[in-house]
Amino acid sequence: MNIVLMLKQHVGGPCKPIVEVGAHVKKGELVAVPEGLGANIHSSVYGVIESVDDMKIIVKADEEQPEEYVKLKETDDYIELVKEAGIVGAGGAGFPTAIKCATDLNGGYVIANAAECEPILDHNTLMMEQHPEYVVEGLKYVMSMTKAAKGYIAIKPIHMKACIALGKACKAEPNIEVKFLPNMYPAGDERVIVREILGVELEPGKLPSEANAVISNVETLKNIYFAIAERKPVITKDVTVAGRLKDAKNGKVFFDQPIGMPVSYYIEACGGYQEPHGEIVIGGPFTGRKGNEDIPLTKTTGGILVAMPFPKDTRKVGILECECGANEARLREIAEDMGAEVVSTAKCKRMVEVNGRYRCDKPGCCPGQAETVLGLKKDGAEIVLTATCQDWTNTVMQIAPRLGVPVYHSTDHTLRASGHNLYRKTK
Ligand code: SF4
Repeated sequence: MNIVLMLKQHVGGPCKPIVEVGAHVKKGELVAVPEGLGANIHSSVYGVIESVDDMKIIVKADEEQPEEYVKLKETDDYIELVKEAGIVGAGGAGFPTAIKCATDLNGGYVIANAAECEPILDHNTLMMEQHPEYVVEGLKYVMSMTKAAKGYIAIKPIHMKACIALGKACKAEPNIEVKFLPNMYPAGDERVIVREILGVELEPGKLPSEANAVISNVETLKNIYFAIAERKPVITKDVTVAGRLKDAKNGKVFFDQPIGMPVSYYIEACGGYQEPHGEIVIGGPFTGRKGNEDIPLTKTTGGILVAMPFPKDTRKVGILECECGANEARLREIAEDMGAEVVSTAKCKRMVEVNGRYRCDKPGCCPGQAETVLGLKKDGAEIVLTATCQDWTNTVMQIAPRLGVPVYHSTDHTLRASGHNLYRKTK
C-alpha cells in the first residue's frame, strides 16, 4: 500500500522534504521539515520512498510493520519535544502547537477543548471515555509549559460518559476542573469557550491569549502526552467514518491510524458504499470539504462522511453564509450539485470584517435573519441554502417558511446519511 504524506498539514507553508526516492524509511523517521511557520513531518510507516514532489511524499509501505517507531531525541525541554514531534492543532486548524506552548500565561488558564462540536464525529468523545488520562496528563504538561495556574476541561454535558470519566481522572488534580459548555454548535469555537468558561467576551479576531488563556483540542493533548511521555512523533490520527456505508451508518471510530492512509481504505473497512450515496465529505458536516477516495489522512482529518446524494432542486437559490459553517464557495458548490442557480448571496448579520476576513460577532447567538431572508427573496430566490449555526433555527426557520421559501442547510446530506436530526426544526 502507498502512504501519501502531504507536505502541508498545518498553518504555514509546505514543508521541505529531506528524503530521496529509493531510500528506506522507518516509522517515526523525520522526512520533511518546515521552512518558516509549520511543523515536522515523520513517516507513519516502514517503507521505501516512491516519489517526492512539492506537495507530497509517497511511501510504499513494507509488508511487515513492527509497532516500534523512531523515538524523539532525549531532552527535558518539553516545548522542544512538542516542536520535534510535529504537533499541530488536531481539531482542524493545524496551528503549530509548540508556539502555543511557548506562551507565558503567568498564572493564567489552559483549557482543553473537549466539545467534539461537529455532529456525527465521535473519536474525541470515545477517546476521553476510554483514556481520560491522555487528556489530563496532556493538560498538565501544557500547564507546566505555559506556567498556567488553572486547567479546565470544556465539554458538553451531552457527552455524559466522557464527562464522568474525565471527572474521575482529574479527581486528584486540585488545579484541574471539568466545566460545561452549552449543547450546541459552535460551542467548540475558541471565542465561545472563552466566553462560557472564563466569562470574557473576546472581540472578533482576538485570540484566547487576550484572556490569558491557551486552548488545546483534546487529541492535540493526547499527542502532547505521547510526545513527552513516550517520545512519540505525530504519525497517527483518530478519525470517525460514517454515512452511506454498509457497516458504519451511525459512525465508526478508528483510533491511531497511520497518517497518509487513503480514504478508500476506510470505505472498504466499513463494508463499502450503501447505495444510493453522494459525495464524500472530509471533516465534519459544518466545516468539512468535498473529498474523494484518494485523499490521504493528515494530522487534522477528523471525519470521512459519505453523504446522501443532493436533492435535485433547480429553483433559484439564495445562499446565506456563516463564519462557523460552509463558506460561499462551498455553498455555491452544493447549489451547483443540486442543480440550482445562485441568484443572491448574503452573510449572517453578525459577520464582521476583520483584517480582510469575515468573523462572527457573537458565535452561536444568532440574530434575527428576517431582513436577510427578505433580501434574498427580493433578489429572486425561491429557495434558501444556508450554513448558519444551530441557533439559526430560531431565526431563519421562523421567517423563510412563512414567506413560502423552503430552506436547505449545508449539513443536510451528511446528517441524513448518518440518521442524525437535521438542523431544521424549530422547537
Ligand atoms: S450568529 Fe451568524 S455568523 Fe455567528 S455563528 Fe450564528 S449564524 Fe454564524
